[in-house]
Amino acid sequence: MICPKRTSELLDLHLAPFKDKDPAWEVGVSKIAGRGLMATRSLKRGQIIFKDMPLLISLSAHEEDSLNTCSVCLTELPDTRFMCRMGCGLPVCSLCSKKKQHKNDCDLLKSWGPNEPEVANSVIIRLLCVARALNLNKDQRDLIYCLQANLDNNHRVEVRNAAKCFKNFPTDKKIFEIMNRTVAVLRTNGFDKTTDRTNDNQEFNYRALYPLFAVMNHDCIPNTYYTFEAKTNIMIVRAAVDIPEGFEITTTYTKLFTGNIARHLFLKMKKGFTCKCSRCSDPTEKGAYISGLYCRDTNCSGLVVPEITGLPHPNYNCLECKQKSTHAQMMKSQDFASGAINAKANSNSLRTLVQYLNEKSDNFIPSSNYVVIDAKLTVLQRLGQGREDCSEELAANTRLRYSRDVIQVMDQLGLGESLVRTQLQELLRREEELRAKRLAEDAEKQRKLAELQAKAAEADKLLAALEEAARAEEVAAAPAPAPAPAPAATETA
Ligand SMILES: [Zn+2]
Ligand SMILES: [Zn+2]
Ligand SMILES: [Zn+2]
Ligand SMILES: [Zn+2]
Repeated sequence: MICPKRTSELLDLHLAPFKDKDPAWEVGVSKIAGRGLMATRSLKRGQIIFKDMPLLISLSAHEEDSLNTCSVCLTELPDTRFMCRMGCGLPVCSLCSKKKQHKNDCDLLKSWGPNEPEVANSVIIRLLCVARALNLNKDQRDLIYCLQANLDNNHRVEVRNAAKCFKNFPTDKKIFEIMNRTVAVLRTNGFDKTTDRTNDNQEFNYRALYPLFAVMNHDCIPNTYYTFEAKTNIMIVRAAVDIPEGFEITTTYTKLFTGNIARHLFLKMKKGFTCKCSRCSDPTEKGAYISGLYCRDTNCSGLVVPEITGLPHPNYNCLECKQKSTHAQMMKSQDFASGAINAKANSNSLRTLVQYLNEKSDNFIPSSNYVVIDAKLTVLQRLGQGREDCSEELAANTRLRYSRDVIQVMDQLGLGESLVRTQLQELLRREEELRAKRLAEDAEKQRKLAELQAKAAEADKLLAALEEAARAEEVAAAPAPAPAPAPAATETA
């Protein structure tokens, strides 16, 4: 294990610009693995625990990426003439081309002689993040060596391949060693645009190493969440739940809503360890049943969940009838459901997807399954941009229902604050406000209608009374009927 004390000293140097005299964390011996971060005092949900800045940051430059982004300020450039004119093979804006950072990058890469410096080459641009380790000072370099690195067979491939893009790539073993080590640390602890780590609805498009963050251990129910400041790329880590003094401060390397098996595979393959957290040790995942599927026995209404074995392809058990199914059997159900739902998600009609989730998918996949949760998040995201072919009413009902559904899953899992939760709660609040407003408007309309009706009834009554009076008057004014003629006096009387 790397010495916690030395790691602490180097982290203090790295974080000196923040001048935090009394940090809420310390590096200590972890119960999870090796060394980790511990809370030095009790922390309240939502409270900032620390800020971290990248020791290394540059473009991810994956093969499919467009490469017209400045390698220093990371802003997008017009897609003509964005390469450095000094022949270093890096994209750089005119402002940054005069900065010290680029001068260092430029001198280093020029000395290696890029084969085609005027052509943007993703291999060279991607290597920059690693190559910059060569220009760090000794303490900074030592800090890289203090961080966990999975030194598997693949970590040497990147530098070996990049070497082919230069005429005079160094042959010095030490230089290779530093770069290979940096690659391994980045793969184990760094950020890279496409990794699943940036799962919390915030985009992060770079390749970067945040050293303090890198010391945090993983838990599938993390007690922190993080965000990035837009311009500076400073990372802010906050408590997701209340954390008692002395407790370990954790983060997650996986998506929040993937099931036990998918998380297990990801952590094993990409991060080289087996997670033994409370969620991973519980086949029901805290009763959230994220991996839950229906029992294959059509007479049984039970849910089937994977056994906890530590194997990549475990059997499944029905919680009701106790029937065992093989991994392959259950994967058929899971793949079928994923295929069906994704087909609807990829069709152009959002309304079709929503109706499918509301009316059909429950027949073959439990609504707790991660495929359904992912689909609901997709729907909410698309609704955030416009209601597409959904009616006003369907859009409103869906926003309300799906955000409640996902929040409920988060509560079930014991997931505290996160960016996703904040966004969902905000959506829910706005939707409930709108709904309350609509209800109030409807009530007001009803009240006005009733008022009008009452007035009309009043008027009717008045009219009827007037008519009655008029009739009575008519009767009174009419000349009295002529008295019956008196019998004619008889002349003879
Ligand atoms: Zn720039
Ligand atoms: Zn240059
Ligand atoms: Zn776990
Ligand atoms: Zn069953």
